[in-house]
Amino acid sequence: MHDAIVSVPEPINEPVLTYAVGTAERARLKEALASLENEVVEIPCVVGGERVFTGKVREVVMPHRHKHVIARFHAATDELAERAIKASLAARREWTAMRWEARAAILLRAAELLAGPWRQRMNAATMHGQSKTAHQAEIDAACELIDFWRFNASFAQELYRQQPKSAPGIWNMTELRPLEGFVFALTPFNFTAIAGNLPTAPALMGNTVVWKPAEAQVLAAWRIYELLEEAGVPPGVINFIPGLPHGSTNLLLDHPALAGIHFTGSTEVFRMMWKRVAENLDRYKTYPRLIGETGGKDFIVAHPSADPKALATAMVRGAFEYQGQKCSAASRAYIPRSLWDTIKAELADTISSIKMGDVSDFSNFMGAVIKQGAFDKHTQAIAEARDTSGMKIIVGGGTDGREGWFVQPTLITTEDPNVRHMKDEFFGPILTCHVYPDRAWTETLELVDRTSPYALTGAVFSRDRAAIMDAMTRLRDAAGNFYINDKPTGAVVGQQPFGGARASGTDDKAGSPQNLLRFTAARTIKETFVAPTDYRYSFLDGP
Ligand code: NAD
Repeated sequence: MHDAIVSVPEPINEPVLTYAVGTAERARLKEALASLENEVVEIPCVVGGERVFTGKVREVVMPHRHKHVIARFHAATDELAERAIKASLAARREWTAMRWEARAAILLRAAELLAGPWRQRMNAATMHGQSKTAHQAEIDAACELIDFWRFNASFAQELYRQQPKSAPGIWNMTELRPLEGFVFALTPFNFTAIAGNLPTAPALMGNTVVWKPAEAQVLAAWRIYELLEEAGVPPGVINFIPGLPHGSTNLLLDHPALAGIHFTGSTEVFRMMWKRVAENLDRYKTYPRLIGETGGKDFIVAHPSADPKALATAMVRGAFEYQGQKCSAASRAYIPRSLWDTIKAELADTISSIKMGDVSDFSNFMGAVIKQGAFDKHTQAIAEARDTSGMKIIVGGGTDGREGWFVQPTLITTEDPNVRHMKDEFFGPILTCHVYPDRAWTETLELVDRTSPYALTGAVFSRDRAAIMDAMTRLRDAAGNFYINDKPTGAVVGQQPFGGARASGTDDKAGSPQNLLRFTAARTIKETFVAPTDYRYSFLDGP
């Protein structure tokens, strides 16, 4: 349809289903989990729409039952990565020529497929593949991904609608062109929604994409790919190359047609890619856009006026949901002495009552951590705390890797606020607290600000407005998502656009117009209706 100015349907956030006992969704999810347990999904690469079984097979296991193989994927090779670049460049011509409303319609259809028939298949893959509980899978793999697709379509419309003024006799226009080349999307293990958003956001803006998902998330990533195919994403627009050896990513980074990187993952990997791109600057056709959301060392700082119960709840939920493997998870806390005496015992009781285990048993609040490497890292961090003078494990500290990679929710205190546990991202269920003297509020805010290189999320708890304002001012650069009397996790698309600066990334706010804009190159067009025919200006008529 050409002759209409259409409006994208008003986006609304997908309601979160409860999975309470007796609900239809609970029964359907249980069914999907059971069916997944009885199969081994065979996952190919897909390049230019063609499924390629490379024969370099790797197994995908359940983190909470790591002897149980749920999928086998065919890892991409160098040759396939090169084919993926060619396929994305070949698909570019038709995809960029397609009207944006048609591209948006494909993603809106994907959202509805996910909200309906695909919902439990996607949740089950995320639960068994990434060890998320039913609730954690629902808010990620279903709701957040649906929201990304619905809201991005509307944000794209908002961007395309922004047009310059036109003086009499001329017509000025701005066109947001797709980038010239291909976009390389690299996605993390911890959010199925991010895995879905990173390749599709640039695609919505007319780009074609080569997508390397994290190996530990490949099952749900494959479900996303299949769903997008059913929704109508044409062959070659998104090319799926799981398991490409890390060293081989240089093939894509070195290509003259690299037009952008859409990355979420660790700071170290993003920095490595940025350096590679910098070294390559002379060979690119256009400056690649670098969009990266990376690590965090997210804080909770409590003022003596904080509500102790609200604070304790936020600490537990913020630090331990999804085993602390959210980039936004609280992993350091600053608690005034007067409150610590009140909440310490309650925190210890609550945390030791948390049930952990196989996520298909819905009574578990926590599952396993993602892989052996993560398990080893957490075990070592806990051992280090045990051996450091001035540090104390208040609750937790146990790990058990026999059946699955289980790490107990662990609360640690440290007298020295500059230990590694207050600076480094462990990405596990470990919360380290520094108890400060009540009178040292201002100094503590300064400490929060300078301790870690990251600046992703943070929260202040207080019932004193002046203290809240003080924290907001002094911690202005310490977090891209700042929470007042709430846990620092759980950002909702369209409500709290997400991302941080400093070592946490380029702060391009996933699921926002700012993010989509990065995947466009604006062209300004001026048309003069009646062009001048004499070069002389009227002031030239006299001396
Ligand atoms: P990761 O850096 O290990 O992997 C991310 C992606 O990079 C994957 O696709 C992986 O295949 C690829 N990759 C990994 N090492 C590579 C290498 N050497 N060369 C090329 N590619 C490589 O991250 P992860 O463990 O999957 O995810 C956890 C990290 O992501 C944490 O640091 C977390 O804070 C961060 N994260 C940030 C946000 C955010 O919005 N800021 C959101 C989610 C996760």
